[in-house]
Amino acid sequence: MYLSLGSNLGDRQSNLRNATGRLLGLGDVLEVSSLYETEPVEVTDQPWFLNCTVAVRTELIPREFLAGILEIERSMGRLRTQPKGPRIIDIDILLFGPAHINTPTLTVPHPAIAGRRFVLEPLAEIAPDVKVPLLKQTVRELLDALPKGGPKVKKIPRT
Ligand code: AMP
Repeated sequence: MYLSLGSNLGDRQSNLRNATGRLLGLGDVLEVSSLYETEPVEVTDQPWFLNCTVAVRTELIPREFLAGILEIERSMGRLRTQPKGPRIIDIDILLFGPAHINTPTLTVPHPAIAGRRFVLEPLAEIAPDVKVPLLKQTVRELLDALPKGGPKVKKIPRT
């Protein structure tokens, strides 16, 4: 399964590293993408985000996994003040194997995958050939289909 992580408050890089470490309590972390500096979307009057994607293998069912990531967000001090506003850490489930899930608390594949460069670029780095259930396109195809000139996404070279 694949996750998107984002942070735009405090030490963003250590927030992402901290969250990735805590994911080990939920399963095996198989791969982590580079970090990407990304322009905020929707609420644009906030600091730029640092984003990455993570591949995880878990024995948990989606509902349990969601509870686990919400607990990580909570334990890292995330406050839900303004929807889509600044946050210490945001963890979204992008794909959970071939599952389609549509419950009041969980939608997988994540509905915003297709339109968002800040998700697709880091996901294409670790999973370019994975087919997105329902959309029936690969991550690379979805990335290539994005219009140019949207919100900016800059890959940070690994040191
Ligand atoms: P957000 O403010 O973006 O972190 O949204 C958090 C809420 O979105 C959670 O309480 C989840 O119940 C809900 N949610 C629905 N689908 C997903 C998903 N694929 N990944 C993470 N959260 C989800």
